[in-house]
Amino acid sequence: MEEKNIAAADAPAKLDFIREIVASDVTAGRNNGKVVTRFPPEPNGYLHIGHAKAISIDFGIASEFGGVCHLRMDDTNPTKEETEYVESIQADVRWLGFEFGEHFYYASDYFDRMYECAEKLIGMGKAYVCDLTAEEFEQYRGNLENPGKNPPGRSRSVEENLALFRRMKAGEFADGEKVLRAAIDMSSPNIHMRDPVIYRIRRTEHFRQGDKWCIYPMYDFAHALEDAFEGITHSICTLEFEIHRPLYDWVVNTLGFVNPPHQYEFARLSLDYTVMSKRKLLQLVKEHYVSGWDDPRMPTISGMRRRGITPEAIRRFCEVIGVTKFNSQTDLALFEHCVREDLNKRCPRYLAVIDPLKVTVTNYPEGETDWLDAVNNPEDPEAGMRKLPFSRNLYIEKSDFMEVPVKGYFRLAPGAEVRLRYGYFLRCNEVVKDASGEIVELKCTIDPATRGGNSSDGRKVKGTIHWVSADHAVRSQVRLYDRLFSVAEPGADGVDFLTQLNPDSLKEATAWMEPELGKVRVGDRVQFERLGYFACDPDSTPEALVFNRTMTLKDSWGRKAAGK
Ligand code: ATP
Ligand code: MG
Repeated sequence: MEEKNIAAADAPAKLDFIREIVASDVTAGRNNGKVVTRFPPEPNGYLHIGHAKAISIDFGIASEFGGVCHLRMDDTNPTKEETEYVESIQADVRWLGFEFGEHFYYASDYFDRMYECAEKLIGMGKAYVCDLTAEEFEQYRGNLENPGKNPPGRSRSVEENLALFRRMKAGEFADGEKVLRAAIDMSSPNIHMRDPVIYRIRRTEHFRQGDKWCIYPMYDFAHALEDAFEGITHSICTLEFEIHRPLYDWVVNTLGFVNPPHQYEFARLSLDYTVMSKRKLLQLVKEHYVSGWDDPRMPTISGMRRRGITPEAIRRFCEVIGVTKFNSQTDLALFEHCVREDLNKRCPRYLAVIDPLKVTVTNYPEGETDWLDAVNNPEDPEAGMRKLPFSRNLYIEKSDFMEVPVKGYFRLAPGAEVRLRYGYFLRCNEVVKDASGEIVELKCTIDPATRGGNSSDGRKVKGTIHWVSADHAVRSQVRLYDRLFSVAEPGADGVDFLTQLNPDSLKEATAWMEPELGKVRVGDRVQFERLGYFACDPDSTPEALVFNRTMTLKDSWGRKAAGK
C-alpha cells in the first residue's frame, strides 16, 4: 500500500473513480458538458489538512474539466459560526492555490428560498408539523430491527400544516415544541428516511441574519437545496454522507429540480498523530493547549503555513494519497516526505548552531576574518554562492564532540580531525572544563592548506560538521516542534485525547547563525544544514528573528516504504 503511494507519485495521472464519473458525464454531454462543484465548509473553525484533501478534489476536478468550483459557507447552524472563520477559510483556499472568484456564497442567503421549498412540500402533502416530545419522537421512529409508526401529526390537512408552520416561523412556539418533518416512509430500512426533521425552532441570533429567523433548516434538507439552487452538477463529499444520499435525492427530486445534482462520496483523510475534528481543534485553542488556530503544531492550513509548509507540498500530498472509497489511516511519514521533497528543492542552506560549544582556533589570529565561499543550494544551481566568515572563535554543536568517542563516531574528539563545512580541517588539541567538570571550550588548530575543505596531501577525514564564527554570529530564537500527540490515534478507544498530548511538542532554544541569515524576512524558508528546515515566524522583531523548525532533515518514509 505504502510502496504503491510512492510509485503512484511518479506514474502518469490515472483517473480516480470520481474523475472517471465526471469524465464520462462530460463525454455523454450531461448538463451540456458543464461541471460545477463546490466546497462547502461550515464556518465554525479553521480549515485543516483534511479539508485540503476535499478542496483539492472539488477545485481540482472543476479546473481539470473546464468547470467552476463554488466556495460556500454552510452556515445554517446559527450557534457556532463567526466572521473570523469565514475570512480565514477564504484566505486558506486562496493560499492553497485555488480560486473561486465571484462564486462565493452563503447558505444563509438562501433561507427565504428554503422556506418556500418547505411550504411547497407541505402543499404537496410531503411535509408536516410534528409535535412529539423528544421521547415520543424516539418511540415512533423505531430502530434497526423495528419499523417506526406514523406520528399523529402526519394525518393533518395541508391547510393545518401550513398554518402551524407559519406560526412556527412567527415565533409562536417555544424551541423544540414543534418541528417540520418530511413525509417519506416511517418503515424505511434507512432511519434517515423515516420522516426526517427538516426545520426546527431555535431562537439564536445568526451571525449574518441576526434575529430574522427563529426556525432553521436541518443540514440534509438545506444542503441538497443549496447544491440545487447553485446548479451544482457533482456534489462531492466524504463517506459519512453516503447514508444521507437517499434523502438528498428525495429532496431535489420531490421538489422537481431539472438536472438535479448528484452526490458522490470519498474516504476522509485521517492522519496519524493528528486530530481533525473541529470540536477538538477548537478545544485545543480555547483551553490554550496551543497558541492559536495557527500554532505551527496544529494540522490547520494556517498552522502549516506558519510552520513553513508550502501549498505545493500540501497539494502534492493530496495528489499522492489519491481518492478512494475506503477509510484508512495515513502515515504521517508520507506527509513529511512530501514536505521535505518540496523544501529540499526550494530552501537555501545556511549554517547555524543551536547547542553551542566554544572552539578557539589557536593558530588563527585574533581579530582576522577569512571570507569563505559557500554554496547556497546544491539542488538549485541558480541559487549561487555566498561568503561565510571564519575567525579564531567558533561555535560547533555540542553533540559534534565526544571526549571518549564511541566506535564509528567520525566527528570531533581529542586528537581527531574533522572537516568544517566550506572551511578547513580542524584538529582538537585540548579540552577545557569548568569546576563542575563540564566541557566549556575546545582548543583546536586548523590546517591552512585545507581551505575549502580538501587536503593537498590526500589525507581524508570522515566527518563534516557545521559551525559558525562566534565573532560574526547573529542570535535568533528557534522553536523546535515535535508531534502534538504522543499516540498515533489520539482519542481512540474512548481515551480523552487531551491526556495524550506530547509534553515535548515544543522546545525553545537560541540559535547562533551565520550573518547572512540576518537578512531573512518573515515567511522565508531556509535550511540550517544538518538541523532541518526552518521558517521565519511573524513573532520576529528587529532585535531577534524567530524561526520555526518545519521539519528535521531525516526522511523515514523511504525506509518505511521499503519495509525496513
Ligand atoms: P466536523 O469536524 O465538525 O465534523 P467537518 O470537518 O466535517 O466538521 P465541514 O466544514 O463540514 O467540516 O467540512 C467541509 C467539507 O470538508 C465537507 O465536504 C467534508 O466532507 C470535507 N472534509 C472534512 N473533513 C475532512 C477530512 N478529514 N478529509 C476529507 N474531507 C474532509
Ligand atoms: Mg461536517
